[in-house]
Amino acid sequence: MTKHIFITGGVVSSLGKGLTAASLGMLLEARGLAVRMQKLDPYLNIDPGTMSPYQHGEVYVLDDGSETDLDLGHYERFTKSPLSHNSSWTTGKIYRNVLRRERQGKYLGKTVQVIPHITNEIKRAIKSLRSKDADIVISEIGGTVGDIESLPFLESIRQFALDTGRENCLYVHLTLVPYLKASAELKTKPTQHSVGRLREIGIQPDILICRTEMPMSDAERSKIGLFCNLDIRNVIEEPDAEFSIYEVPIMLHKRGFDQRVIDFFWNKTGGLPMQLLQPPDLTDWSEILDRLKNPKGSVRIAVVGKYAKHKDAYKSIYESLDHAGIKNNVKIKVTGIPSDELDLAKLGGMDGVLVPGGFGDRGIEGKIETVRYVRENKIPFFGICLGMQCAVIEFARNVCGLDSAHSMEFTPATPYPVITLMDEQRNITDKGGTMRLGSQPAVLTADSTACHCYGKSEITERHRHRFELNNEYREMLQKSGLHIAAASPDGKLVEIVEIPEHPWFVGVQFHPEFKSQPTNPHPLFDGFIAAAVKHRK
Ligand code: GLN
Repeated sequence: MTKHIFITGGVVSSLGKGLTAASLGMLLEARGLAVRMQKLDPYLNIDPGTMSPYQHGEVYVLDDGSETDLDLGHYERFTKSPLSHNSSWTTGKIYRNVLRRERQGKYLGKTVQVIPHITNEIKRAIKSLRSKDADIVISEIGGTVGDIESLPFLESIRQFALDTGRENCLYVHLTLVPYLKASAELKTKPTQHSVGRLREIGIQPDILICRTEMPMSDAERSKIGLFCNLDIRNVIEEPDAEFSIYEVPIMLHKRGFDQRVIDFFWNKTGGLPMQLLQPPDLTDWSEILDRLKNPKGSVRIAVVGKYAKHKDAYKSIYESLDHAGIKNNVKIKVTGIPSDELDLAKLGGMDGVLVPGGFGDRGIEGKIETVRYVRENKIPFFGICLGMQCAVIEFARNVCGLDSAHSMEFTPATPYPVITLMDEQRNITDKGGTMRLGSQPAVLTADSTACHCYGKSEITERHRHRFELNNEYREMLQKSGLHIAAASPDGKLVEIVEIPEHPWFVGVQFHPEFKSQPTNPHPLFDGFIAAAVKHRK
C-alpha cells in the first residue's frame, strides 16, 4: 500500500518547503524506499512556462517536456524519483481537466462544483503517482495556509485520509519560528496560529518542521507540542543551512525527521520492512559535504544574463556549477552580471564565463559582446541555449564578416538570419508549450570537446526553445572555424557548436543544467569548471 506524505507551509512563503520535501525524499530513499514526488501549486496558470523568472524563478523542464516549478529541480537533484507531467499540477491544470470533462457532458447533468468535482480531480492528481513500485508519494502543496487559492488543495488532502486511511497519510507542516531581537526570544505564536488554521479545516499535522534562525530549546519545542497537539519528538527544528543547501538532509536526519516518518507509518500498521530498521546510508552525501567544506582554492565564474541579479532565475545553472565545483574540488565564486549593464573590465578577471538561456532582446548586445571578449581573450566559455545562439551570431558577425547578422527572434528583417525559426514554428500564436521541449537525442562528432566530456557520442538532453541555427549558414560558419560538434540524429538541427582553436568554447542548444546532481555532476559543467581551473593557473 503506497503511503502518502503531504507537505504544507504556514506563516510566510519561501520557507524552503521544496528543499525540505526533497531532503525527506532523499532520506527515505537512503533507507531503501521507493519515493515519488510532486508539487501542487494553487495559482491559475496552467504551468509556469509563461511566467517571468522575476515572478517565479526559473522554469524547470522535465524529460517529457513539462515546464514546471523550480522545486522540481530540487526533487531531481536530491532524489531518484522519476518525474513527469503527473508531478506538476496547478489550479489552472486541475480546472482545465474538469471544464473539458464538463463540455464533454461527462458529469451527466450535475452541477459542477469545487466540492466534489475539483477536489476529486486533485485527489486523482495525487493518486496518479501511486503504483506497486512506489512505497511513498510526497505531495508538496505550494502557497501558504490561509490563502484563498490553497483551500481546495487542503480540503482534498483532508479527504484523502478518509479515502485511504489516516494511518496511510502523514501531514507535515512547515512554519517559521521567528527570533525577536528586542526580547531575545523565539516566538511560537505564529506557528500556533498556523496550525490552528489547519485544524479548523480538519487537518491535524503529524510533524511540524520549524524554520529557525536560532537554536530551539526543548522547552520551546514542548510548548509548541502542547499548543499544537503533538509529541515533542514530532516538533523538529530546521535551522538555516550555514554552508550549503546540501546540508539540509543531514540536519533533518540528525533531528529525527525520517525516523519519525518511519515510526508513524510502520509502527501503526506493523510489518516493518527489514531495511527500515537500518539507519539510512548517507555515505555519498557526507562525502559531498566534506568536499564542499574543504575546497582546494576557488574559481571565478561570471554568469552574464538578463536576470543575473535575481538568484532564482538561473537556479539550476548555479547548482550545476556547484556540483562541478564539488567534483573538481574548488569553490565556485559566481558573479552575476546583468547583460544590459555589461562592464568588460569585470570579465577580464574571470576564469570562466557562462551565458545562460533566455527570451527577449533586452541585454542581447551585451551577451554578444561578452562572447566576443571571451573568444578573443581565450577565457573558457559555456553558452546555453540563447547563450549558444549569441555565440553563433558573434562568430558570424566578427569572424565571418556578416556585420548585421542576428537572430530572427530579435531582428526579423536581418539580412543574415543565422538563427531562425523552424518552418513548423512560424505560424504559432499560442504561447504555452509550443516550443521544442523536453528530452531529445543528439549525436556528437568523435573529435569534439563535448564528446570527450561525455565519454560517448550519443546523448539525450532537455530542450526549451523555438529558434535554431540556420542550416544555410552552416558551411560558412564551419569553414571559418566554428565546429558543429553535435546535431539531431537526422542531422537537421544543430545541437552543439565549438571553437577548436579556443581552450574551452562550447555552446549548446539544450539545457544541461536540468540533468546535474551533486552526486553526479553534468559532464559539460564538469569540463567547463576543469577548464576554468586550468585557466586560473
Ligand atoms: N529565445 C531562444 C529560442 O527561443 C532561446 C531559448 C532559451 O534560451 N531557452 O530559441
